Amino acid sequence: MVGELLRKIGDIKMIHLSGLDSNIYLFDKTVIDTGTGFNFVRLIDALKQLKMGMNDIELVINTHCHFDHTGGDGYFPKAQIAIHEADADAVENADDQMVNAGFFNGRAKPKKIGQRLKEGDTVKGLKVIHTPGHTPGSICLLDEKKKILFSGDTVFSDGVGRTDRPGGSEEQLEESINKVMELDFDVLLPGHGEPIPKNAKKELDKMFRE
Ligand SMILES: [Zn+2]
Repeated sequence: MVGELLRKIGDIKMIHLSGLDSNIYLFDKTVIDTGTGFNFVRLIDALKQLKMGMNDIELVINTHCHFDHTGGDGYFPKAQIAIHEADADAVENADDQMVNAGFFNGRAKPKKIGQRLKEGDTVKGLKVIHTPGHTPGSICLLDEKKKILFSGDTVFSDGVGRTDRPGGSEEQLEESINKVMELDFDVLLPGHGEPIPKNAKKELDKMFRE
């Protein structure tokens, strides 16, 4: 259930710090999204349970630039940061408006981006699917073998991402959702809320029809 600090979904660990923070997914010395950075102690605690520390993480992949997904990026001193090229500048330049920091009463800190991702790239075995709409550089990440989709804030188990923040576009989001629904996946690991551990595409199909 949501609220649990640490959960396992297959080989992937899901870390939930608070209702404000994005879900954090951990596998193979890599994290997908890092939360706001406000709940550092809980994050340390989760890693400790996994017998890991901040220095063990080598790669941070951000599904988009928003503060609740990138605020904790700087806590992993050894990690390179990867994000779609269209959201990279917002994070690198600590653009408070684009990363939506004020919404969380936070201040962005500039971070060096190591990899500017684009459609069709592969990072850590995951295919990059560009799904703009929530932000210009929002991505989903697809594990084609295991049929797992990390969907960021593009689509959740109970709805879709908001488009009323700077850089948002309802039209683009709709196109992106159509693109997602053409992908082959069974497991949905979204940026917030509950994952869908099986039959995810069917579940989403049902949600969109209702
Ligand atoms: Zn967001």
